[in-house]
Amino acid sequence: MFPAIIKFQNYGQQVVEAAKYIGQGSAVTSDHSNRLPITVQYPYEKNLPSERFRGRIHFEFDKCIACEVCVRVCPINLPVVDWIFMKEVKKKKLRSYTIDFGVCIFCGNCVEYCPTNCLSMTEEFELSSYDRHELNRDQTALGRIPLSASQDVSIQLVSNSTNFLEKKKFVSEKT
Ligand code: SF4
Ligand code: SF4
Repeated sequence: MFPAIIKFQNYGQQVVEAAKYIGQGSAVTSDHSNRLPITVQYPYEKNLPSERFRGRIHFEFDKCIACEVCVRVCPINLPVVDWIFMKEVKKKKLRSYTIDFGVCIFCGNCVEYCPTNCLSMTEEFELSSYDRHELNRDQTALGRIPLSASQDVSIQLVSNSTNFLEKKKFVSEKT
């Protein structure tokens, strides 16, 4: 008789513990069911890059003095600066400037140290290509005004807000 009572007590404790774990699991599930999905339907929706996002480099040919500081500070000596020395005015004249984005690690050193600020990092990140040689951009391609996700009318922007209510309002306005 005595062992049967102990067995019954153990069984009761196990039932209580199981109910506790089921309750905890259900609480986690219901907590997640109140959250909005964080996935983005790219390319129809895009997240706005953060303010200091390091995307495609923009280059201003007219401001470049061909000093090659960008080459020296680049961890892989990447920018190719082609110039000639003009004896009459004792000055360098820039002929071409290229950066290969297939190799660039987007560290931003060149932008940071350029003395004339002719380099800048943009929020453009869609650089994929079927041909890696297309990623080698010359001064014309580098000088192109960057595409901005916020100005792309063909896509819907997803708020970066972490505030649940703000995000919910943003999504309900879209639908
Ligand atoms: S550091 Fe700036 S100014 Fe000097 S070569 Fe590079 S891009 Fe041109
Ligand atoms: S971002 Fe970095 S890796 Fe790319 S060109 Fe500039 S210094 Fe070199």
